[in-house]
Amino acid sequence: MGMRRLGVMGGTFDPIHNGHLVAASEAAAALGLDEVIFVPTNDSYQKTDFAPAEHRYLMTVIATAGNPRFSVSRVEIDRQGPSFTADTLRELGETYPDAKLFFITGADAVSNLSTWHQYPDILELANFVAVTRPGHDFKLPAEVADRVPILEIPAMAISSTDIRSRVRENRPIWYLVPDGIVQYIAKTNLYREVW
Ligand code: NAP
Repeated sequence: MGMRRLGVMGGTFDPIHNGHLVAASEAAAALGLDEVIFVPTNDSYQKTDFAPAEHRYLMTVIATAGNPRFSVSRVEIDRQGPSFTADTLRELGETYPDAKLFFITGADAVSNLSTWHQYPDILELANFVAVTRPGHDFKLPAEVADRVPILEIPAMAISSTDIRSRVRENRPIWYLVPDGIVQYIAKTNLYREVW
C-alpha cells in the first residue's frame, strides 16, 4: 500500500461555512486525499473580536459530522498559546507517521508564508495548497509560488466575515452554512454582539 494522503485544513473557522466544506472536498478530489482533518486555531491574543475556540471547534465538528472522510483535530486548542502551523504539522506527522501531509488554507494567509514561524523549514513538513475566491486576482510571492498550487473555489464567495455581519444585522445565513450551524449560532447567540 502507498502512503496515506492526508489533508490538513487550517483555519479560524469563525464560523465554518459551506465554502470551507466545498474547498476541502475539491482539494481532496484534486489531490487524491484519503482524509481531511480540519484544525481550528486556538484563541489568539491578536484577534480579540472572534468567537471562543470551543464554539469554533464545536461548529467545525457539527459541520463535518456527515462526511466519513472529514474529521476535526483539537491539536491547536489543546496545545494552547499561539497556533503555529509548524508545531501542528510536526505533531500530526508524529501521529500519522505513514501519511503524506497537505496543508490547505486561504491564499491570503499563505501570501505571508515567508513570515510564518519556522519558515522555510515549514515547507518540508507538508505540501502547501492555497484556496482562493473567484475573481480574486491572486499571485503568491515569488519565493513560494512554484511550491504552492492555487485552487480557485467558486463557493468561497461565502466568507466568515459576511456570515458574522449577517447574524449581527439579522439577515439570513441559511444555505451559506450547514443547517446545524444556523441552529448552533441561534442557540448560543454567537456574533450578535462583538466579542
Ligand atoms: P485568516 O486571516 O482568518 O483568513 C485569511 C483568508 O483565508 C480569509 O479570506 C479566509 O476566509 C480564508 N481562509 C482561512 N482558512 C481557510 C481555509 N481553511 N480554507 C479556505 N479559506 C480559508 O487566516 P487564519 O484563519 O488566521 O489562518 C489560516 C491558517 O493559517 C490557520 O491554520 C493559521 O494557524 C495558519 N497560519 C499560521 C501562521 C504561523 O504558523 N505563523 C501564520 C498565519 C496563519 P474565511 O474568513 O471565510 O475563512
